[in-house]
Amino acid sequence: MRRTADVIIPTSIDEAVSAFGDGSGLTVIGGGTIVMPELARNEISVSKALILSEAGLSGVSREGGTVRIAAGTPLEALIGDTPDPLSTAAQRVGDYELRGQATIGGNLCAGPGRAAPRGDLQAPLIALAATVRTAGAGGEKTQSVEDFLAVGTDARLVLEIEFAEPTRGVYMSMGRPHAHVYTLFGVSCAESAEGTRIAIGGAGPVAVRASSVEQALAGGASAGDAAAKVLDDVELTDDALASAWYRRKTLPTLVSRALTELARESA
Ligand SMILES: Cc1cc2nc3c(=O)[nH]c(=O)nc-3n(C[C@H](O)[C@H](O)[C@H](O)COP(=O)(O)OP(=O)(O)OC[C@H]3O[C@@H](n4cnc5c(N)ncnc54)[C@H](O)[C@@H]3O)c2cc1C
Repeated sequence: MRRTADVIIPTSIDEAVSAFGDGSGLTVIGGGTIVMPELARNEISVSKALILSEAGLSGVSREGGTVRIAAGTPLEALIGDTPDPLSTAAQRVGDYELRGQATIGGNLCAGPGRAAPRGDLQAPLIALAATVRTAGAGGEKTQSVEDFLAVGTDARLVLEIEFAEPTRGVYMSMGRPHAHVYTLFGVSCAESAEGTRIAIGGAGPVAVRASSVEQALAGGASAGDAAAKVLDDVELTDDALASAWYRRKTLPTLVSRALTELARESA
C-alpha cells in the first residue's frame, strides 16, 4: 500500500511553534533516529510530520552560570561542551554517526509506549535540576524535567533545556556490548550549593530521581549505605537488555561507585 504524509519543515522557531499548535495529529521529528526506524518497521503511522532540522533549534550557550541547550542540538555537540553528568552520558549514546544525528529533544521524549524506550540523557538532566521550555496548548511553559516526564511528553514541542552549572558531576553506566554498547542503566550525580542530586536511568520506562539516596547522604550515611536505598526509589523492570533481578543485584553497587567517585572529586 502507498502511504503519504504532509511534511512541514519550519525555518524558524516561531514557524515551528505555530505549525505545532496544540500538537494534535502531528509527529515531531528531531534527528529521527527513533521515529524513522519505527516507521520502517510499521510500528507507527504518520499523517503529518514536523521536521525540526532547519528551525534554528540548535546550540549550547552559557550566560551567568546558566547552561542552555536548544532542543535540536545533536548529542555529539554536548560532549565536552556541557558539564558532567550530561557530557559523559552523551558520549556513551550509540556511536559517532548516531550522536551526530540524534537530538537532545528526541532523547528527552524517548519513553514509555515505545518498543525500545531509550532516553539515557533524562537522568543526567534530572540530576542537574534542569528545566524544559515547551510550546503547545495554552502557549509556552517551563517546568522541571521530572514534571515534564511525569505528565507524558506527547503534546508539547520541546524548545530548550536549561540548568545551572554544577560544581561537579559524575556519570557511571553499566553497558551490555552488542553491535553497539547498550546502557543497562546509568547513575547521574550532580553537586551544587543546594546539595547532591542523584538520578537513575534505565531502571524503568523513564528516568527517576533517587530521593532516598539523596536523603541518606544528607543525613551522613556512607556511600555504600546511601546507595542501598536506591532500591526504594526505582521500580525495576525486565527488558531485552537485563532482568529486574539482575538490575536489583547490580544497581546499588554502581550507585555506591558513583558516590565514591563524586566524593573523591570533591576532596
Ligand atoms: C542504533 C541505535 C542505538 C541507540 N543507542 C542509544 C543509546 O545508547 N542511548 C540512548 O539514550 N538512545 C539510543 N538510541 C535512541 C535514540 O537514538 C536517542 O534516544 C536519540 O537521542 C533520539 O533523538 P532523535 O532526535 O533522533 O529522536 P526522534 O526520533 O526525532 O524523536 C524521538 C521522539 O521524540 C519526539 N521529539 C523529537 N524532538 C522533539 C521535540 N523537540 N519536541 C517534542 N518532541 C520531540 C518525537 O516525536 C519522537 O516521539 C539509539 C538508537 C539507535 C537507532
